[in-house]
Amino acid sequence: MIDITRKDFLKLSASAAAATAVASAGVPVSAKAQSFAAPRAARKTLIRNADVLTMDPKLGEMPGTDVLIDGGKIIAIGKNIAAADAEVIDATGMILMPGMTDGHRHIWEGIEAGHLVKTNPKDYATYQTSKKKIMVCMTAEDHHFAAYLGGLQALDSGVTTVLDYAHIQWSQDRAIASARGLQETGIGGWFGYQISHTPTYGPGDTVPMKQADAEQGAMGDDAHFRTADILAKEVFSDSSAPLRLGLCMSNGAFGAPIDKVKAEMERMRGYGIGMVAAHSHRPNKQFPAGHFGARGSGIADLKDAGLLGPDLHLSHGNGLTDDELKMLADTGGMICATAMGEFPYKARGLPGSVHGRARAAGVAVGTGLDVSVALTQDYFENMRCAFWNLYLDPEGVALAKDYKSADTLDFTTALGAKALRLSDETGTITIGKRADLVLLRTDRYSFAIMGSLADRVLNFAQLPDVDSVWASGKAVKRNGQMIGVNWATIKARLHSIQERLEAQTATINFI
Ligand SMILES: [Zn+2]
Repeated sequence: MIDITRKDFLKLSASAAAATAVASAGVPVSAKAQSFAAPRAARKTLIRNADVLTMDPKLGEMPGTDVLIDGGKIIAIGKNIAAADAEVIDATGMILMPGMTDGHRHIWEGIEAGHLVKTNPKDYATYQTSKKKIMVCMTAEDHHFAAYLGGLQALDSGVTTVLDYAHIQWSQDRAIASARGLQETGIGGWFGYQISHTPTYGPGDTVPMKQADAEQGAMGDDAHFRTADILAKEVFSDSSAPLRLGLCMSNGAFGAPIDKVKAEMERMRGYGIGMVAAHSHRPNKQFPAGHFGARGSGIADLKDAGLLGPDLHLSHGNGLTDDELKMLADTGGMICATAMGEFPYKARGLPGSVHGRARAAGVAVGTGLDVSVALTQDYFENMRCAFWNLYLDPEGVALAKDYKSADTLDFTTALGAKALRLSDETGTITIGKRADLVLLRTDRYSFAIMGSLADRVLNFAQLPDVDSVWASGKAVKRNGQMIGVNWATIKARLHSIQERLEAQTATINFI
């Protein structure tokens, strides 16, 4: 067992701390100086003769079709498009589909993939404790790397739009470094900074669990909002960029007096960012009247306080009732169900994932991976799971009987984009939208060669079939390889960070 005291750790990390010191402008030096990659230019590109699964209801499936992209957007779709100055990609026999959307993912967790898995509930029960330890061991540089890695993992799998629920970036330098790491990958969506966490302990410390819980479960304070100020002004000042700032409600908000929740939400909405996200669960025991969570999953509490709205994005929400779904539909609220990660929720007595019921109720709903620490990045597996999960409840069974493959794909494309307020920009292959595209090989032995494109993709596609990916018109993956990424170097750094974090987290003792 490696024994590192807090004193040793401070000595060891002194140079790292200096490197991550916050400059007077508020931006960590490391986050500025060590960008992983210069932004790649978007090139005019003609994808020739693809079988195009547009997911645009007006266009449907278009076999043997060309798609021209320029300036980051789709500018033409049709047969025999002439574009002499474009890079031409022969996509004969391949399927072109929209880049996929993920509405709820903790991107940083990719750094820990395999540390915990969901197949053993007892082991996975340590998730919150493990998070409390790792959050005080990860430096700003670790976060920069973790977000970069997580962004690459998403893009590699064909996910070009994500809501990154950044829920352990508790200091300004960590949050900024994380935001920049994700931004450098070129992925679109939302960097959802959670207004939360003020840990006062570190490696080598023995801490009462009650204290650690209270620190994790507190509401956001001025320091968190100062971080949000810097993120808004210095990292996400361009509101037309593919990746934007979202804010996530504090852990403490759920169960808090509604006037405090109102103050926090109104302060978040003061940024004018259009995305306020929250984990949503039905509490085992309702909170007292006048608190968020006094009734059901707390949607009626928010409604009565005038806090529902089209910027509200809830993840999970397995316990949402029909009435609560109607309240969300009436106010334009959004949901993300994370079907693969939610299957063990049944053991807690909760219903299955809510995506089918939410769509039937008229709520924009998508799906997501949630815990990168424990689940496969193969997003097609997550998609199939969203379908199978419908069969966990009688209501879902009734809905599933009328589903076609495109209805399930919808959760991760057109409807998924709508559930992130981005349906004008991405989610379908449509002229004028961002060129977020995935080109699938179909030459693997078991990739079906008959059936509709939607049937083939939903039922047979796998991550290794992802040949090429464009994010906002920039090629990030070609011929099955990520561009400008040296996986061996990244993997070596990942390994060394994991080793250090394992040693450091082992020195924290909760009592
Ligand atoms: Zn989550």
